Amino acid sequence: MGVDVPFAEELDVCLRCGYCRSVCPTWREVGWESASPRGRAYWLRRIARQTPLDRAMGLRPEVTQRFFEHFYYCTMCGRCAEVCHTAIPLHHVWESCREWLIREGWGPLEPHVARLRSLATDNNPWGHPANRRTEWLGDRKPAATGDVLWFVGCSESYTQVQASAAGAKLLDAAGVSRSDPGTEERCRGNAECNIAATAHLDARARHNVDAIEATGATRVVSGCPGCTLTLDGIYRDRGMGGDFEVIHMTQFLAELLDEGKLVPVKRPRGKVIWHDPCELGRVGDRIYGAPRRILDAVLGEDNWLEFALNRDEATCCGGGGAFKGVDDRIAVRIAANKLEEAEELGASVCVTACPTCRFNLNHGVQTLKRERKEAEEGAFKMRAMDIKELLLRSL
Ligand code: SF4
Ligand code: SF4
Repeated sequence: MGVDVPFAEELDVCLRCGYCRSVCPTWREVGWESASPRGRAYWLRRIARQTPLDRAMGLRPEVTQRFFEHFYYCTMCGRCAEVCHTAIPLHHVWESCREWLIREGWGPLEPHVARLRSLATDNNPWGHPANRRTEWLGDRKPAATGDVLWFVGCSESYTQVQASAAGAKLLDAAGVSRSDPGTEERCRGNAECNIAATAHLDARARHNVDAIEATGATRVVSGCPGCTLTLDGIYRDRGMGGDFEVIHMTQFLAELLDEGKLVPVKRPRGKVIWHDPCELGRVGDRIYGAPRRILDAVLGEDNWLEFALNRDEATCCGGGGAFKGVDDRIAVRIAANKLEEAEELGASVCVTACPTCRFNLNHGVQTLKRERKEAEEGAFKMRAMDIKELLLRSL
């Protein structure tokens, strides 16, 4: 007998080969087997089924607080699931286990409590008042109705406003008439999904879908890969999808370039390297072509850099999965590793299309600048930038 663990049967086929561990960005930094995907898979099986040896020795492996915490030493980057050669759906295992353990009363973890409180009171995880969501727009107020709706998302509404301001200027330059749910927009719920505290997700989905449908939009353009994933995937999986198409901003901008509505005329300074956000790529709809079409249009084909591991194999920036709140130092170190790789490849601008990536990569930039200065090793000159900012500089 054991505990009713999600995906227990799937975990039975784990061979403990460690392929998942070798690609795990948090394990590489933390080094604890118990926080690695292989270690968590092993303990889940032990908790699910007592082995004959457990029974002979009177052992009953069980959930502990530390075991629960180790589920958050994970950026939910999805890399482990890609390499598991017994095809265990590891990403779903981690999501389901977080939900299961929260239901069982082991969490949420203390660093996530404030985020959840802010979501409950102000519909964003950043602790900002709900009525300041559209402050970054200034006088550029969108129409109340229209075919195209831009779902800005919490991060670009509150913390990454350079990226959202660039997006607004691009859409204006292309003559796109867009609507926006404004202060009626609420966090789409990806933050709660990452923490796995999903009790209010259906109510949130209903509100957002109703607010979008009230604008008459047939196309929703989402600036954040996590929003795209939630609005298009998670809502629909829960039977709560709306009667509209959801695309990511990179797909929309690539279309505007193809149609000649945006025409780059200047080449922005700096050698660009492209970082594939996990939620735009392997965890999401594998949107790899659109951002590359934008980079080709702005910089010229083959005039920008790829990381050695890219697309499905791209390494994580460290910012996702609600991990940053749990261990910011390691999350930023993962970003710094990525930026140092970019530097070695000759880049000076790391471009991405996810506000969470941009946020954490910026922390990595600041950390490396400080460390190089303290060690008197010369300046670290990399910048992190959203692809909207890069495209705007080319007009
Ligand atoms: S890659 Fe798959 S089979 Fe190998 S240790 Fe990880 S979970 Fe187990
Ligand atoms: S999703 Fe990413 S961070 Fe989480 S266990 Fe898998 S490889 Fe590690």
